[in-house]
Amino acid sequence: MDDGAQDSPLFPGLEDYVPLVAGATLTAAETLKTGFAEVAICWDGGRHHAHKSKASGFCYVADIVLALLSLKKLPTPSPSSPSLPLPKPKPRIMYLDLDLHFSDGVSEAFHQPNPTTAPQILTLSIHHNSPGFFPASPLAALPDPSSDSGFDPFTLSIPLAQGAFNTTYKRMFTLIDRTREIFNPDYVVVQCGADGLAGDPYAVLNWSLGGEGSMGWYIEKIIAWPGRKLLLGGGGYNSPNVARTWAYLTSIALKAPLDLEASIPDHSAFPQYAPSFTMDVPAGFMQDTNEEEDLKRIEEAYERIFVILEERTRAFNP
Ligand SMILES: [Zn+2]
Repeated sequence: MDDGAQDSPLFPGLEDYVPLVAGATLTAAETLKTGFAEVAICWDGGRHHAHKSKASGFCYVADIVLALLSLKKLPTPSPSSPSLPLPKPKPRIMYLDLDLHFSDGVSEAFHQPNPTTAPQILTLSIHHNSPGFFPASPLAALPDPSSDSGFDPFTLSIPLAQGAFNTTYKRMFTLIDRTREIFNPDYVVVQCGADGLAGDPYAVLNWSLGGEGSMGWYIEKIIAWPGRKLLLGGGGYNSPNVARTWAYLTSIALKAPLDLEASIPDHSAFPQYAPSFTMDVPAGFMQDTNEEEDLKRIEEAYERIFVILEERTRAFNP
């Protein structure tokens, strides 16, 4: 492991931490495979920057990659009979990354230019991308279907400019939903990093927790998709807001959404929820710099991507 990276310093207990995080995410994946659950959550998982032999961006273990590889395979035989039907032998898995940052560790692990075999995994990351913004990866940019080298319709990105608000996210969801429709996954793995929300110290995007196009709205739509879902955590550096977010997303997964105006109950960390002391993570006053022409360019690229994705998906799975 590279211990020189400033964003991933060594710390006491690392050798215990790594198998605990990986084991938790893999256990969550196993509950879906065996039919124990239709939705599984591991908020400690979602370490999307970790590479096979390199920690990066506070990610010390590639738990998502391990979970995706595990979901490709049939479950370990268990004496207890599953309550849901077993998955088919070659299930398809869609990975959707909602973190502020590009999912380099996951997308690079499965990127395969000009694939010749049927990929079981499609990765799609919606994130901020600009020169010098972490992580540096050519895959973080808008995919170019006309590029001779490097284009893989199963490795997708939606790069957003500063200040993206619910309206921009809502528009981009149409592309995410269409991708899902074409690929028709048996499992959807969602990385729910909360650092794109307003109030995060990164202060790059202006997404909110509630309302049309919000993160809560995304999860509500995703939970309603066919197939089994694995919700994972990710980034997020305003701890009270991360707690609000993952509590709210859990309530959506349980189909019993909390009221965002509800008061935070009294507990030891209560003062940190000032000044609102409610569940909500509202948008701020940042300007959404995603111009009409930028969004149109993304939509036009995806129109071409969808044609290729449809052809490839049909060719591989006639
Ligand atoms: Zn992040």
